Amino acid sequence: MHVVVVGAGIIGATIAWNLRARGAEVTVIAEGPGAASTATFGWVNASFYLDDDHFRLRTAGIDAWHRLEAQSGLGLVDWCGCLSWEEQGAEMAATAERLNGLAYETRALSRADWTRMEPALADLPDEALYMPQEGATEGADSAAALLANAGVPQVIGTPVRRIVEEGGRVTGVETDQGIFHADHVVLAAGSGTSALLGDFGVLLPMVPRPGLMMRTAPVERVLSHILVTPGQEIRQDAQGRIVASTVANHQEDQTERIIERPDTVARLTLQRMAPMFPTVELALERVTLANRPMPGDEKPVIGPVGPEGLTVAVMHSGVTLGAIVGELVATEITGGNVASELLAPWRADRLLS
Ligand SMILES: Cc1cc2nc3c(=O)[nH]c(=O)nc-3n(C[C@H](O)[C@H](O)[C@H](O)COP(=O)(O)OP(=O)(O)OC[C@H]3O[C@@H](n4cnc5c(N)ncnc54)[C@H](O)[C@@H]3O)c2cc1C
Repeated sequence: MHVVVVGAGIIGATIAWNLRARGAEVTVIAEGPGAASTATFGWVNASFYLDDDHFRLRTAGIDAWHRLEAQSGLGLVDWCGCLSWEEQGAEMAATAERLNGLAYETRALSRADWTRMEPALADLPDEALYMPQEGATEGADSAAALLANAGVPQVIGTPVRRIVEEGGRVTGVETDQGIFHADHVVLAAGSGTSALLGDFGVLLPMVPRPGLMMRTAPVERVLSHILVTPGQEIRQDAQGRIVASTVANHQEDQTERIIERPDTVARLTLQRMAPMFPTVELALERVTLANRPMPGDEKPVIGPVGPEGLTVAVMHSGVTLGAIVGELVATEITGGNVASELLAPWRADRLLS
């Protein structure tokens, strides 16, 4: 079976890797590297979720990242754990009780505890929650590493203009370089997904959710965990850059349009968080802006859609969900169309009129 995967972000890459692992021939075709996967904060977690099914998929997502690392031999996720004090007092206690009630380990820490865990930080509150099972990955780097590891041929820099269908069955994709034939096509094109479905009269609603992410120049190691503060989420990458969202609670960010200049917003973010890092001087290196690929009801859309032989996978929190979605989609495609129970809540039908 030959599968064309459209998209080289984290979702295209995890699906391609898992298809190869199940014996399929795969070609990845993409306009460029992952857009959201480059701009992402990269937090792998299930402490944020929208409903019970979403929580179940996210916890399965954490487990699947461990499997993918073991199977590929790649170190993809920094399992550094997360310290959160976005809430305080009764609200924080209620969050801990809710998450522990779901068997999602969440420890309440005192100031003495977190001072031992993050000795270089200043200006922190009296209490914080600790989720030791969470981690972070560089979305675009992990995508590239997985595609290289699987030895998947990639045609990058080539937009797919149209998905080719004959007699109700997909037969390939059309690009400016001609048609690439395929027995199955996976659309993992992030924010570009819905445009390619229109040809089949499939109108997949998406909502605009642009997000800004800033990175500083590298500094010595001052941070060992992901921090969720009332101002923004923060972590330090392997090269020493401090990475931060420019808004609080970016996973629930409802902004539809960013009208301020990205560098201005990033500098204000830097000023806000600098007092936390008294031992280093932070300098802005880069700010990225990308749309979160967000279906109309803000939940993942995964599974067959339109003509036979076409599968779509588009979602926010694709970093958390990439490993599990890769496994489940590849199994559905290569396993004789046996539908995954875990994917049942995420079919496109619910959004199509
Ligand atoms: C600011 C921000 C912060 C985020 N933080 C988190 C987080 O902390 N945790 C988390 O789990 N998720 C987070 N997300 C969401 C997560 O990053 C995305 O869900 C994920 O990266 C989506 O991956 P993707 O592969 O679907 O899309 P992308 O990475 O956008 O890749 C899309 C691919 O499709 C290609 N493409 C598009 N159209 C075409 C076409 N017509 N022809 C050919 N190729 C095409 C592109 O070139 C690209 O290769 C964040 C997103 C943003 C923007």
